[in-house]
Amino acid sequence: LSTVAAASGNRRGRPLRSNVCSRLAGCALRGSADLGRLVELVSAIRPADAADEALARIRRLEELKAAAAAAQAREMVALDEIRRDEQQAAGVPKARLGQGVAHEVALARRCSPFHGARQLGWAKILVRELPATFRALQSGVTTEWRTMLVARETGGLSLEARAEVDARLGPLLGDLGDRAVRSETRRLAYRLDPQGYVRRLSNAEADRRVTLRPAPDAMVRLSALMPVKQGVATLAALSRAADSDKASGDARSRGQVMADTLVERVTGQSVADHVPVLVNVILTDQALVRRGELADEPGELDGYGPIPAALARRLGTPDDEVPVWLRRLYSDPAGRLVSMESSRRCFTPAQREFVRLRDQHCRTPYCDAPIRHVDHILPARRNGPTSLQNAAGLCEACNYAKEVTPRRSRAPAA
Ligand SMILES: [Zn+2]
Repeated sequence: LSTVAAASGNRRGRPLRSNVCSRLAGCALRGSADLGRLVELVSAIRPADAADEALARIRRLEELKAAAAAAQAREMVALDEIRRDEQQAAGVPKARLGQGVAHEVALARRCSPFHGARQLGWAKILVRELPATFRALQSGVTTEWRTMLVARETGGLSLEARAEVDARLGPLLGDLGDRAVRSETRRLAYRLDPQGYVRRLSNAEADRRVTLRPAPDAMVRLSALMPVKQGVATLAALSRAADSDKASGDARSRGQVMADTLVERVTGQSVADHVPVLVNVILTDQALVRRGELADEPGELDGYGPIPAALARRLGTPDDEVPVWLRRLYSDPAGRLVSMESSRRCFTPAQREFVRLRDQHCRTPYCDAPIRHVDHILPARRNGPTSLQNAAGLCEACNYAKEVTPRRSRAPAA
């Protein structure tokens, strides 16, 4: 299957050609239906009986994935061009050409609009500005991720410098792992364009932020993206705190002391456990009173996700030691919150809060971004009611994008 990698498909009609595929199926890959057939062929492969054959197949399949990623990149660029042509013909202002394409890509790739935009940006750079890197991906010797690293690490360079890095790096890609790709690209980039590095540095610093991701067992991972000097200084400060606490006989581990110190210093509390928080826990009434069929129905902790019923109840019963202000929003047995309706055209603050808690994440398919806007699914100007059934929580990007792409979110079944 490896020469599928050489498939030189093209936008607007020319067939995707592949020697092997024509041998296999008596066809040239002419379009999405043929690709569907290829997917079926690959899925129908029975596992090998011999180790050598298994290894050879593992290698070939890796090449197939890379070739598919390259072909996909070219299709994304084609889609972008086609949409821009259409939009231009329809009189869309120049600055808004290409709007909505990332959302379409995201839906087709079953990923969030954020990732769709990133994939589209990568595809354009890869196909247009990194030809040698693109060929390496097509021939299956490198991975999609590594070509993304090349695109990212050459982001601040002039076009000429980027082309130079590509020409030098492309032939080597087959021998480089993730880390080596990143460091080799950087080395070349710093050498060729020291100014680009400085420009990028200030861009990168503007990107600093703090994020929270769920971890297993009702834990979370709090991450901060920040300039290297501040990050190293922060860790050093926590490490010093751990040293002095351990020296005075603290029974906690270094890691525990560092985590507790982080919480204490950020929240201003003297003991990490005593952090006053407003916790929004959603749980069914049956889970709350531990009765009925749904007594063990998992609850939902706002900003985290599902938590075991026992933990939801514990968060819901503040004791004297732990000042937790709690707002419990009762959900019906299907885990949904009770309904409210307003006769106004705008959602009330309570309704907004309610939708944010109910939806948890942006309602665009595959989008996991936090909710920033509450939106009428059927617009108010078309007599859409200001009810929770007709409300969808959207992230910032999706809210702005919804005017240029068809509406895709639905209210949960009532
Ligand atoms: Zn979104």
